[in-house]
This record gives sequence, structure tokens and C-alpha cells, in this order.
Amino acid sequence: MHCPSCGREAPVEQQFCRNCGMSLSAVGKLVAQHSATPVEIQKKLQQREREAKIVRCMVNWIIRGMIVLGIGVVILVCAKNFDLGKWVRTIATLVILSGCGSALFGVLNSLRQGASLSTNSEQIPLDEPVDTKQLPANPIPSSLPSVTERTTQLISVKTSDSESKFSNG
Ligand SMILES: [Zn+2]
Repeated sequence: MHCPSCGREAPVEQQFCRNCGMSLSAVGKLVAQHSATPVEIQKKLQQREREAKIVRCMVNWIIRGMIVLGIGVVILVCAKNFDLGKWVRTIATLVILSGCGSALFGVLNSLRQGASLSTNSEQIPLDEPVDTKQLPANPIPSSLPSVTERTTQLISVKTSDSESKFSNG
């Protein structure tokens, strides 16, 4: 860091400037706070990066699937309009199916990765509904960091709800 008064370079742990005698303890604390990122924030950033990666991967698969699906639909429409024969329609159907499969694979894959991510990392405590007859005040938790994690958590909340309903009546 540099002395705010004279600009001379000084180590962070130094208390006073050797050039002008200015107190550097407050500056040193501030510099230490800003330069050293706490481990928790780093972990959260890494997790967010991984989640963003998963979402990107899912979007890529869905876009690819949609493109393939669109090609299949175009082939199907052409086959119908120009009467190209049964095999063209079969190919178009196969192409459409593979497009759907690609998009579905992307969604399932990202869900699986998101689930493993949330089990590896620390769980964010959800407000558990005390009474199933009462609607929860916050049906959708607002402060969750990712799309995928929220879906999986909502699913788990839903299943526990239905289980308790079965046991009640
Ligand atoms: Zn100085």
C-alpha cells in the first residue's frame, strides 16, 4: 500500500509512515479487508460459477434440440407439401424426436448436476410449513441463488407435503 499523505510505499502491517510519520493502521486494515476475500465468499462465488456453467450447458442443449426440432418440422412440412413419400416423413419424425430428446437430456442433466451440487454444498434452510392446512407465507423462497437449485428444492418440498397429507388422512 501507499501512504495517503506522502505516497511512499509501505508494507500493510506497518503502523506509521517512515517518511512523514502518518498513522497507517486504519489504512492497513482497510487494505487487508479489500485485498483478502473471505473463504465463504470465495466458495459462494465458485458455486455460483458452477451453477452458471450448468445453466449455460442446459441452454446449449435446449437450443441445439430446438434447432434439430425445427429442421425436422421443416422436413415434415416439405414432405407433406411436396408429397415426398413416407420415408421422408419417418426421417423428419426421427429428427424431431432426437431434437426433443436433446432438449430433455439437457434439462435432466442440469437438474442432476444441480442436485449433486446442492447436496455437496451447504443446504440453505427452507422455511418449513408448520401446518399443511395453512398456506406458507412465502411459497417461493426469494433469496435462493440459482434456478436449478430452486426447482429441486421446490420438488422436495412438494413431495414432503404430499407425504404428510397421506399420513394425516
Ligand atoms: Zn507518508
